[in-house]
Amino acid sequence: MKIYDTLSGDKKTLEITKGVPLKLFVCGPTVYDYPHIGHARTYLVFDMFVRFLTAQGYSVHYLQNITDIDDKIIDRAKQENTDPRTLAKKFEEAYYEDMETLGIKGAKYARATDHIPEIVVQIQTLLKKGHAYEIPGDGYYFDLSTFPEYGKLSHRTALQAEDSVSRVDDSTKKRNKGDFALWKFEKPGEPAWESPFGRGRPGWHIEDTAITEKEFGPQYDMHGGAIDLIFPHHEAELTQQESASGKKPFVKIWMHTGFLLIDGKKMSKSLGNFITIRDFLNTPITPIQGNPKYKPTSQTLRMMTLMHHYRTPLNYIEKLMPQQAQDRLWSIQSYLFRLSHGDRVKSDKIRASISKLLEEFEREFNSKLENDFNTGEALASIDLLWRKLLAVARDTGGLLNVTEADAVKKWIEEKVSLFGFQLKPVVIPEEIQKLTKEMDEHRSKKKEGYSKATDLREKILALGFLVENEEPNSFVFPLVTNWEAY
Ligand code: AMP
Repeated sequence: MKIYDTLSGDKKTLEITKGVPLKLFVCGPTVYDYPHIGHARTYLVFDMFVRFLTAQGYSVHYLQNITDIDDKIIDRAKQENTDPRTLAKKFEEAYYEDMETLGIKGAKYARATDHIPEIVVQIQTLLKKGHAYEIPGDGYYFDLSTFPEYGKLSHRTALQAEDSVSRVDDSTKKRNKGDFALWKFEKPGEPAWESPFGRGRPGWHIEDTAITEKEFGPQYDMHGGAIDLIFPHHEAELTQQESASGKKPFVKIWMHTGFLLIDGKKMSKSLGNFITIRDFLNTPITPIQGNPKYKPTSQTLRMMTLMHHYRTPLNYIEKLMPQQAQDRLWSIQSYLFRLSHGDRVKSDKIRASISKLLEEFEREFNSKLENDFNTGEALASIDLLWRKLLAVARDTGGLLNVTEADAVKKWIEEKVSLFGFQLKPVVIPEEIQKLTKEMDEHRSKKKEGYSKATDLREKILALGFLVENEEPNSFVFPLVTNWEAY
């Protein structure tokens, strides 16, 4: 499998051996608010990545940190007149609940505040090796002049890296403008921990390297997160860890997901375009084209994410994207429904071409995922298979027989389950089945019955179902606008 690696700027082969767990670390949330749909995108991608490797017979040691002490948490706690630890605890719980709602599982979580001793040891190592210094009354900082390769991950020159002020700690007494905090001395009213260099709290970047060094050692396989974290967070992590251990590379592959934007803009409280996972799931959507309002589900969000390549920016447009995702889910449900109910003939002569076709699609499907994890194209291969089957049926003048339909259905169901979708089977309500039967009875009377049959077809349509006439029984299925029932 090849994955695009941010550091080398190239697709790199993932070195993975059966029986040896792949060490994967993905930056977890800073718990000061409910998780939003951007978080959902990143964590759904890594969830699917772990699902795929597991299905291929590999094991993954999947680790995520929980940033439960940080400036953002302290600021929010002040605004809400509460204690930072209480606030962090509340949103940590909310994060786990929302991940469960999204069907995301398999990660081991590690809280920053449970790793203060490891953080202290790493800072001591950096001090001993001359990479860190103290600013009295302020804290300890990393001295960037001791690591000439700073900027190699984000592909910034040292000067550009120095000049950037984005989320780099502020202090006028730093040796270099870009130096980042390792330990911040205690301030009144802020949480603090004992350490040999004074009471205080850790800087943001050291939390992650202390956790990964404890769980994985100084070097490991893969580090993930969204693109916003490349600089300064991941650049700083790399700098710290390679300086502390003297070992390179810190990680073999850096895998970054693209950002989810709202109408082309970054999500933020101040712009009022912040959509939490809870809001998304609780807000009915009015799609374009006059379709009725519907409530999106966690499946909608999963499809919305995975139908696109993980590295492309995802521009969320409320009237468009959830509907596109629903349509895709609906298509797959309809293939499965047709395969179990409609598109079959009685002949049990099996065409060798169908099993060959499935083998070809299996190779195709895996090759899409193995080439920089192209979930969008892998999903599209389900639709391509369907179209190919229609062409085969047309060319050979026959529908699939039961055995063939079951084999195709099984293949699609396997992929649906690999992607973590739980699609409700389509059930035609009894009332509709009765009306369809009545309609078929009128139809069988030929000319005399046609007018009544047409009226019934209209009635069925008005109830949200479409009829395809077949002999002797018609095939009926729900209209796309009726999807909410499924
Ligand atoms: P944070 O809570 O901001 O520390 O972010 C937690 C994780 O979610 C990190 O991997 C971020 O890169 C990722 N993330 C944050 N915002 C977005 C977004 N809008 N789109 C995609 N991923 C995001």
